[in-house]
Amino acid sequence: MHNEPICGIDLGTTNSCLALLRDGTPEPLCMEEGSAIVPSIVSRDDATGRIIVGREALNRFAAFPHHTVRSIKRLMGKETTVFLGEQGYSPEEISSFILKYLVTKGGEAIGREIRRVVITVPAYFNDAQRRATIKAGELAGLEVVRIINEPTAASLLYENVEDEDAGDEAASPYILVYDLGGGTFDVSILEIKGEIKEVLASCGDSALGGDDFDERLIAFFLRQIREQYGHDFSDDGDRALHTRLKAIAEQTKITLSDAPFARISEVAVTVVNGEPVNLDLELTRKEYEEMIADLVEQTVVKVNEALKEAHLECDDIGRIVLVGGSSRTPLVQERLEQLFERTVSFSIDPDLCVALGACVQHGLIVGEPLGHILIDVTAHSLGVKTSDSFDPESGDADFFSTIIRRNTAIPTRKAELYYSNVDNQKMVKVEVFQGESESCKENSCIGSFPYSLKPAPAGSPVITEFAYDKEGLIHITLEQKGFDNRKEVTLDIRSNRLIDPEEAAGEEKIVNYMVSKGRKLAARSDTPQKLRDELSALLDEYVAALGEGNEASIDSLEERLLELMDEIEEGAGDE
Ligand code: ADP
Ligand code: MG
Repeated sequence: MHNEPICGIDLGTTNSCLALLRDGTPEPLCMEEGSAIVPSIVSRDDATGRIIVGREALNRFAAFPHHTVRSIKRLMGKETTVFLGEQGYSPEEISSFILKYLVTKGGEAIGREIRRVVITVPAYFNDAQRRATIKAGELAGLEVVRIINEPTAASLLYENVEDEDAGDEAASPYILVYDLGGGTFDVSILEIKGEIKEVLASCGDSALGGDDFDERLIAFFLRQIREQYGHDFSDDGDRALHTRLKAIAEQTKITLSDAPFARISEVAVTVVNGEPVNLDLELTRKEYEEMIADLVEQTVVKVNEALKEAHLECDDIGRIVLVGGSSRTPLVQERLEQLFERTVSFSIDPDLCVALGACVQHGLIVGEPLGHILIDVTAHSLGVKTSDSFDPESGDADFFSTIIRRNTAIPTRKAELYYSNVDNQKMVKVEVFQGESESCKENSCIGSFPYSLKPAPAGSPVITEFAYDKEGLIHITLEQKGFDNRKEVTLDIRSNRLIDPEEAAGEEKIVNYMVSKGRKLAARSDTPQKLRDELSALLDEYVAALGEGNEASIDSLEERLLELMDEIEEGAGDE
């Protein structure tokens, strides 16, 4: 019997996470402000000698830089002393504070003491670094049941996931794990041989990660400040400013992972000549992607290196596992999709999957029965039809633009930006498709509806947000940027039905409007033939605006117009 908690820990460079097995399923443990992700930062309060870990330590970083340490993982296995104020510690000791904090919090949450853990390390960690990690565990009063490689933990987790359409992927024994964290990038290729997972290749860059993305944004903010306030803060060592800008940069970056642009509006980030310096700007995802493109490219180079080292081609790879917070960057997924020519997404939170995998490993070691991990993912990519490209044969705009990728864990919320085609465009027909082809014709249409635009020059941006919930409903929100023009529509993906009470009422109004317009036409038309033509043109106009998914209201309009025609013809006959 194993009464003891089954625990796995991802002791990361930037963030750490603890997971526990509950009823055969690994679960991340929420620690700070509802988040399971704990910053791997340690600080010491000189006055009391108290050791502070996690978010609180992060908050102290700006004020007490000499009492606070981050990225201690980089020093693991080295004979060195890190000073927090007056007090010196070994890297193992610092790491033990993080471990102690995690298990104490975890133990409090479940009301039981956590004593045994599985801890993960990067695949490239040497013996000294692994031993230092075990030592850190011991210093925290823990028994380290096993040290496992991070990519192995992540792949182990995915193996236990119930995933219907992993069919062809599962046929290949090769897994590629792409791990882009805060300060490090690792790519590993594993081969599954029954129970054993062998690391065939492990490449990376220990100085490349989300921190570099932040730095690009900080440099951009500083350029903006220089232009606006005529003062260059780039090398004046203003630590408080840098810390503040870093926090803004990280928030901006995270926003841009889900939204097409970010609005930055921060007051008094610093002062110049006694005046507060404000940051007030908007940044599109495209502009941000240009800033980080070369960094993402460096990771692609490493992926190719790893493939070469493993003597494999892209096509040989079965599953591609995305790990690390920075792998949420859409550009990362896009570049990998180009390279591997398939959709690449994560169905498990990339910041949590290493800890969850470590927990699964612990469960396997002690022989705890593991249930399949059930996660709800989108079975197909979801998006809209755009006129980005034209089908040369038919001349139709038939380009499928993905908003939510296939295999994304539900619930999820993603937004993209689209633009009006012509000046003062009155209406766009929003056509929602699901499928994996770039051409809408080969995907399936799950609904369409009109969206009226306010008068604006061509290129007026429309934010299109898809929120996919656990009930299989897609809540679509359209918003013409800069105007008070929002529309919300819900699609039921299981029945391909448009649910929109307001819309239904609106359509009834449109039908009435059309009928009254028909009546006016009738009053002016000299011949019944001309009237019939005009009414049918009216119907075509309406059908073009609404299209598929609205058959019911089109039918109802058609019926009413026919009635109207009969009515008028009868009237004419009476005369
Ligand atoms: P590590 O393994 O190095 O400890 P993590 O896997 O926790 O790091 O990744 C941390 C990095 O991920 C940070 O740079 C953080 O800003 C970044 N990150 C977290 N969430 C997102 C997101 N939604 N989009 C882009 N980057 C993110
Ligand atoms: Mg990590």
